Amino acid sequence: MQQPIDLRSDTVTRPTPAMRRAMAEAEVGDDVLDGDPTVRALEDRVASLLGKDRALFFPSGTMANQTGVWLLSRRGTEVLLDAEAHLIHWEIAGLAALCGVQPRPLRGSGAVYDAAALRAGIRPASPNAPYASLVCVENTHNGAGGKVTSVEGLRAIRDVAREHSLPVHMDGARLWNAAVATGTNIADFAACADTVMVSFSKGLGAPVGAALAGSNEAMRDAWQTRKRFGGGMRQSGILAAAALHGIEQHWPRMHEDHERARELAKAVDGAGGATVVAPDTNIVMIDLPAGVTAGALSARCAEQGVKISPWNASRVRAVTHLDVDQGKIARAGEVIARSLEELSR
Ligand SMILES: *Cc1c(COP(=O)(O)O)cnc(C)c1O
Repeated sequence: MQQPIDLRSDTVTRPTPAMRRAMAEAEVGDDVLDGDPTVRALEDRVASLLGKDRALFFPSGTMANQTGVWLLSRRGTEVLLDAEAHLIHWEIAGLAALCGVQPRPLRGSGAVYDAAALRAGIRPASPNAPYASLVCVENTHNGAGGKVTSVEGLRAIRDVAREHSLPVHMDGARLWNAAVATGTNIADFAACADTVMVSFSKGLGAPVGAALAGSNEAMRDAWQTRKRFGGGMRQSGILAAAALHGIEQHWPRMHEDHERARELAKAVDGAGGATVVAPDTNIVMIDLPAGVTAGALSARCAEQGVKISPWNASRVRAVTHLDVDQGKIARAGEVIARSLEELSR
């Protein structure tokens, strides 16, 4: 039996032998007590790449996102963000439970909200209405199918936020992909936000981890918030070594994931009446024809060794990553297309 081809997420990658070696050989200390040298090296590398004063290593993107929101927002206010944001749908209502804020979901004319939608979403000041304290952006945007918001688009959002004295937090779990797909310096994206989260456990292929970057002042507070949320880690250099390895060895090959996504989209688009959202990066969203459910298609593909995720009743998500080469993508494309044709008959 062939190994299943797992396209459910880019989080499924296993550390490569070279990454495991880097982890085994990492120099470590106690990062909560007085610092771990490999964690420091990772934090310095990320801060420099993103053009921020300082970065902090976190156990997860979710904790880093919640810390960013916690620092920049105020209890009993609104956070303006895209209606399909990860912060709304996949962080277990952390905005409410941890940060005490109310999400104000925005929808623009395109796949992801834009500056005009932000402007329209900011309420006129009134003693009887909540006011906003924070704007969040997500780049690339997971729910929209790995869509990139350009630097110009982000600058326009930042400018509207500034007009209203609102800080900006960026959920840049896949900002690595946005930079590769557009040939943009990753720091130009990061400059559009006060705090930026980047993930190491998606396309970079590390087993866990994320970073939050921002000003020295913000990161002093973030250090304490991270500890309060339970994210103080000790000999975490073992994990930071994997993240560093991912940045140096896997980021330069990320364009291959985007090529694979385009190949998969081409193989599946139109099959049985399905339509595929043209991928900007490594996420392929397949909108199903009437009568075919996401559950039925995912189950049919799984029987044939191809794993994809139901996204909602009429949409499935397939994500390309380090562990799927061109041959596997060709096979996955055939299986998905054939299954769509059979189920739509
Ligand atoms: C995965 C992801 C996160 C959260 O990262 P975890 O490390 O899984 O907690 C946040 N935002 C986006 C857009 C993501 O894709």
